[in-house]
Amino acid sequence: MYWVESLRRLKQHLKLRERLALVMGLFVLSVGLGATALMEHRLESALQSAAQQRLDFVAKKLGDAIRDDLLQRRREVAQLALVLSASQEIQLDTIQPILDKLKARSPAYAWIGLADAQGSVVAASDGLLLGVSVAQRPWFSSGQAVDYFGDSHSAKLLEPFLLDAPQGEPVRFFDITSPVRNVSQPWSGVLGAHLYTRWIRQVVERALVSHGEFIRFEVFVADGAGNPLYQWPSSSAQSLNDFLQHPEDARDLLSQGTVTSDDIGEDLAWTVAVRESHLVAMAPIHENRRQMLMATPVIAVLLAWATWLIAGSMARPVSRVAHMARLHAATAGHELDTQLTSSRDETQLLDQALNRLALTDPLTGLSNRSALKLRLSELIQFHNNAQARQPFAVYLLNLDDFHVFNSTKGHDAGDQLLKAVADRLRLTSTAGETLARLGGDEFVVLTTVGLMDATASEQAHAYGDRLLGAFAAPLMVDVGAFRCPVSIGVVLAMDEVRSAEDILTQAELAMQEAKRLGKEQIVVFNDQLQSGLLAQAVFEQELLEAIPTQLLALYQPQVDQSGQRLGVELLVRWRHAQKGLISPALFIPLAERNGQIVNIGRWVMQQACQQICAWKDDPLCSAWSVAVNVSAREFSHPGFVESIQHILTDTGANPARLKLELTESALAVDVDEVVLRMRQLRVLGITFALDDFGTGFSSLSYLQRMPIDQLKIDQSFVREMLTDANSASIVQTVVALGRALGLQVIAEGVETEMQRERLAELGCLRYQGYLFGAPMPAASLVDVAPT
Ligand code: C2E
Ligand code: CA
Ligand code: CA
Repeated sequence: MYWVESLRRLKQHLKLRERLALVMGLFVLSVGLGATALMEHRLESALQSAAQQRLDFVAKKLGDAIRDDLLQRRREVAQLALVLSASQEIQLDTIQPILDKLKARSPAYAWIGLADAQGSVVAASDGLLLGVSVAQRPWFSSGQAVDYFGDSHSAKLLEPFLLDAPQGEPVRFFDITSPVRNVSQPWSGVLGAHLYTRWIRQVVERALVSHGEFIRFEVFVADGAGNPLYQWPSSSAQSLNDFLQHPEDARDLLSQGTVTSDDIGEDLAWTVAVRESHLVAMAPIHENRRQMLMATPVIAVLLAWATWLIAGSMARPVSRVAHMARLHAATAGHELDTQLTSSRDETQLLDQALNRLALTDPLTGLSNRSALKLRLSELIQFHNNAQARQPFAVYLLNLDDFHVFNSTKGHDAGDQLLKAVADRLRLTSTAGETLARLGGDEFVVLTTVGLMDATASEQAHAYGDRLLGAFAAPLMVDVGAFRCPVSIGVVLAMDEVRSAEDILTQAELAMQEAKRLGKEQIVVFNDQLQSGLLAQAVFEQELLEAIPTQLLALYQPQVDQSGQRLGVELLVRWRHAQKGLISPALFIPLAERNGQIVNIGRWVMQQACQQICAWKDDPLCSAWSVAVNVSAREFSHPGFVESIQHILTDTGANPARLKLELTESALAVDVDEVVLRMRQLRVLGITFALDDFGTGFSSLSYLQRMPIDQLKIDQSFVREMLTDANSASIVQTVVALGRALGLQVIAEGVETEMQRERLAELGCLRYQGYLFGAPMPAASLVDVAPT
């Protein structure tokens, strides 16, 4: 709708404060107008009936006034007739002055005369019509017997003599007569008076003036036939009907009074019609409206202004926060709706900003965990209810070795890398997909796109491969271009789904499985994985109960080129009641994940130290070093150094015999911290070997900073050295590196004499492997010790 749309647009251009003022102004205006309308409505009905009552009263009053005046005239004529009847002698020449006097007293009279029994005028006012016969006039014939009143008629005989008639107005009369019967003389005749019709005007106007209502009402007096006897000079009505039925305004008020024969005693039926203009009758309403219409806008403006002032202090904090939100949007890079940032409406802007804050990951601008869960819940609800289910897939991406990047390149670079990952995801995704960052280095792509039931599984795999492929190309950050492989766990929802939380847990499990399979892998969650994970949970519980009672320490000898034993490496085993001896390769990674490695490590360290003590007086073994494997998680554990100090003190073992084997990945976590710990332990006399050397990250600069004593060539190179020139050259390089840095070099996994010879040729003079003895109990070690 045009209206709504323009209001919405207007709202955007108004600040909160301006809007409040406008709303207040409009509110007062509409209340004012509403109150005016209500008052008018109520006033109108009250006024209407009051005006009508007054009008009825006026009509009646006018009728009464006319009647009273008429009766007065009749009484005058009758009294004079009575006087004439009673006089001893009728002196005709004395009557004229009496008639003149009566006429002069009331201007209503046009003529008063006395006619004898034959109808001849014998005396008359102003001596008019003397001797003229009126025998044919109705007033004479009717007036001989009784008092008579004759309705209006035109002046027949008198007209020529009456010069004072107003211009244009036809001269009309009413007749009033009374019989004269003088008994003493015996003389009889009729006393007749003619009244001007305009006499009514005088009566009406006098009555109106006496009420002070002269101008308010329009009056129309009509005779029995409806002909006008009196009307306003400006009136053009031809008849009573005309007057009644053609008002100037249909809403005008009308009332009628009568002057009837009952009053006068003759055949008379006059009507007094009174009209009041609607405008005049309702004048108080118009006055009220005028005042309200003047006052309302003024009050509206005043209150709007007051609101604007008051709202200023209220709106200030809101404006300030909105300003901050705008600034943030401008600097964060992923701006709010541009239309909104340009909007002056702070509430709308804040709404949007808060929404963003609640549902967006601030670093990457992707959806956050809450937003993803909301979207997922919606999708699940639809999925579970819909007749034809729409499969959807959740891809949980975890960056491989992000912590290494973060600790070697710094957190700013880490943040940049995460942003670059988000951008890469945006490039790969299509509309309708939800991209989210769950926190840390975990991202989610939620998609329904293109998943058709029959081939959903293949499509989900294909999409996952596309995601893997997208991260094959390096990402650009300020410190350079870096390849950032990801491990992906996928959940494909085809059947009924329980909850968003379930889906995310399953995706997490699948992702961990992908990591376990060697990173940069994709694993789709399925029931086997589920049962595998269940089994793992049982295994985990068993391990917890196994520490340390079911652990067993084995020792594998390390020898020099002459076969002389230099020391041993402690390798742990789990003696499982049903499964027999379990390799650490099966339970150490699990213990590393769930933290049990710390307890295992402590037990191993105790075994190693006890063994050093046990051998200290044996000339054969007292010089042997005992190498202990330490996982990254153990080494970075806060109490690690103290724990070793304790064990050394408790057991009294010589720290110089203790050698810690660390892998390169253990060193990469937090270089400074690692170096610090190594130095602390080194001070005690403990030595260090770098295990599985050649498979990890180490750079020369690293090695130079670390207080390392020994490099352990990984067994994979030893195994392939004889067939693979590359492996051989790595061995050679490690030997050279060791020489250059002054470190010992030992090869592990040496199984054959040929391998030993080749290693010796390449310059590696220390060995560990089945060729010299498998891991075995300490007692067996002494038994089979070469002499
Ligand atoms: P590792 O430190 O590289 O240990 C060498 C592994 O190679 C041992 O496997 C050992 O039995 C095996 N090995 C020795 N000589 C030969 C050989 O000639 N040929 C072949 N093919 N293998 C040989 P093991 O004992 O199963 O240990 C596996 C891994 O478990 C170890 O690799 C180490 O990383 C970890 N581990 C063992 N004990 C401990 C421990 O007490 N603490 C920690 N944190 N990790 C341990
Ligand atoms: Ca080792
Ligand atoms: Ca090793």
